[in-house]
Amino acid sequence: MDFLLMGLIYTLFFVVLSYVIFAGRSAYHRTGWVGLLRRNLFSVVHLMQSAFERCIPAAVTRVINNTTTYILFTRNPCIQLLYGFIITGGTAVYTFKVIPYFDKINLFSIITYILIAINVTLFWICSTSEPGIITSLHHAEYMNDYEPDGVYYTALECYTCKIIKPARSKHCSLCDVCVSRFDHHCSWVNNCIGKRNYKFFCCFITSSAILCVYVTFVVMVVFAYIVIADGLISMEYVDQDGKHYPVGIRFLTQYLLVRHPLMSILFLTVLFFGVALSGFSLFHLYLVLTNQTTNEFYKRWFGKSQAKPRQPRITETTAAAKASKRRTTSNKNASSRTLAKVTVEKTQSSWTSTPYNKGIWRNIAEIIRG
Ligand SMILES: [Zn+2]
Ligand SMILES: [Zn+2]
Repeated sequence: MDFLLMGLIYTLFFVVLSYVIFAGRSAYHRTGWVGLLRRNLFSVVHLMQSAFERCIPAAVTRVINNTTTYILFTRNPCIQLLYGFIITGGTAVYTFKVIPYFDKINLFSIITYILIAINVTLFWICSTSEPGIITSLHHAEYMNDYEPDGVYYTALECYTCKIIKPARSKHCSLCDVCVSRFDHHCSWVNNCIGKRNYKFFCCFITSSAILCVYVTFVVMVVFAYIVIADGLISMEYVDQDGKHYPVGIRFLTQYLLVRHPLMSILFLTVLFFGVALSGFSLFHLYLVLTNQTTNEFYKRWFGKSQAKPRQPRITETTAAAKASKRRTTSNKNASSRTLAKVTVEKTQSSWTSTPYNKGIWRNIAEIIRG
């Protein structure tokens, strides 16, 4: 089987597998064959995991479990280091393998280095920026940002921080803080993404997508140059029986992989990340335009959208909590109206009917203001 066919099969398998894993939990797929496939897949994985654990010594299992827990469920720099490795390795391959095909450092390369510099700067900003951590000092300010919608957010207490959680906030178990307008915890930048740094995160993923798509384009230009310069188009391929075939895309793919392995790896990496990050950027553009967070999108489409409105449970006795309680009581009628509105919107189940949607321009302005 040739490289091209194998590549296509692997890509198709990866896309289908990702779809089943991520979309199989959604309310839309949960009762269908995608949901069934996901449940069976996880049963098989658990079965294999227990069989594997029985076969190897307990000490090894413990080390594997501890390592997995550390990487996936604690705040650690492993994925940041992976980013560093990919960006450094990619830049090195680009510098030493791609640039020599140009006469000198031309516009193509200058643009690439500018994009890399922008991307690394945004990565550093996202990694070090304050996401909107709710402290007693800023609690009252964050409480005023959004009204509880009565469905996803009510005036509940955070058991860890001992504060009343402002609407749209969430406690991040990895950072151990409550974050205003919590979007998600990003392992890539080892930081929470919330009210204050969401705009930087959007810029970072968009710049990453642009960088990858641009480098994909540049490497494709170099590949086209190699094919023409080496005269591959006019050549013929001779098989084991001595039959002559015109050079096709399969042969060219194999030729480039074998003769230019590092550049091919760079090409496949930026192609993969370019496609994935373009999709991810478009997803966040949709979230920005409809004023949703990833956390809210997840609750809405992946299993918690059917949650019944919860009764506020206020036990906090601090001044801020009392203020919140007064606000909750005084706004009881308003909250009921909000709840009724949200319920109507949920029954319509539209992609844009979200509780905090204020219209495209006001939604964008809210993100920029942070
Ligand atoms: Zn908390
Ligand atoms: Zn976090």
